[in-house]
Amino acid sequence: MHQKTSSHKKKSINGLLTVESSRQLSNNLIEIVFSCDKKLEIDPLWIGPHLKLLFPVANCSEIVFPLINEEGKIIWQEGTRERVRTYSIRRYDEKSNTIAVHFVIHQQGVATTWAQNAQVGDRIGLVAMGSKRRFDEISQLTLLGDISAMPAICYTLEHLPANQKTVAIIEVRDEKDKLSLALPEYAQLHWLVTPQGSPSQIMTKLEQLQLTVDDNALFWGGMESSVSQSLRNFLKDHFANLSSDSTRLISYWREGFAEGQFKHHD
Ligand SMILES: Cc1cc2nc3c(=O)[nH]c(=O)nc-3n(C[C@H](O)[C@H](O)[C@H](O)COP(=O)(O)OP(=O)(O)OC[C@H]3O[C@@H](n4cnc5c(N)ncnc54)[C@H](O)[C@@H]3O)c2cc1C
Repeated sequence: MHQKTSSHKKKSINGLLTVESSRQLSNNLIEIVFSCDKKLEIDPLWIGPHLKLLFPVANCSEIVFPLINEEGKIIWQEGTRERVRTYSIRRYDEKSNTIAVHFVIHQQGVATTWAQNAQVGDRIGLVAMGSKRRFDEISQLTLLGDISAMPAICYTLEHLPANQKTVAIIEVRDEKDKLSLALPEYAQLHWLVTPQGSPSQIMTKLEQLQLTVDDNALFWGGMESSVSQSLRNFLKDHFANLSSDSTRLISYWREGFAEGQFKHHD
């Protein structure tokens, strides 16, 4: 079992993010680059760092931040929590203190609607950021995800420490969603193209790959809730040597439920 250090903890920030640019990458993805009024501190060892974004009621309305107490704990005010959504860092530029976030477009939702209408100068809140796992705790890394986890997986692949043995499977909705990445030779990336609404192929691909993993391996990823549940069961059945600490498959979203109406670990 690994000792968790302070850098695992979520950092409360309450910073203001301002849209610097917005562009449509494919029919399913929008990239938004934000500057932040507070210095962003991102641990280079974080695997798939995430952001807690707070969306205003209307695109130009004021952001009402939650309170942060002396221990750094977030105290939510009424009506605030419902407007928080979790996203990932796709890119981070330390010099300009900017981050890029890739928003998946879906039918409706606070975040997806905001992203589709975002204009340069619009503002949202950055309540907190963090990551639960670090590269220096693990031997092998397997990254699994649908298009909503593609930003986190691509970020992670681009920040792999030297010789970090890694296999990634990313399932997108369309060929045009694929991002081009420069991968180190010790990392493998498998793309799957599955139209929206069709069953996930991640488990079939995992079975085909016939991976062997040691006790210190980590399966990390994010996808729709029912897919993450099936994958957790699959991993338990196929890798008896893995401890519960070796799997971190998060329900990034759940069909028919808004964020906050389901648990990310179910
Ligand atoms: C740690 C973490 C990191 C994440 N990183 C990213 C990221 O970088 N980019 C990204 O796009 N998403 C990411 N997500 C997923 C994102 O938080 C959810 O998709 C969120 O529900 C979107 O909020 P919304 O307001 O648009 O929709 P909500 O109001 O939460 O949901 C409204 C409806 O949309 C449906 N829905 C939500 N998401 C999707 C989807 N992806 N596809 C189809 N239907 C959906 C819901 O089932 C619901 O019916 C991440 C989630 C987690 C937990």
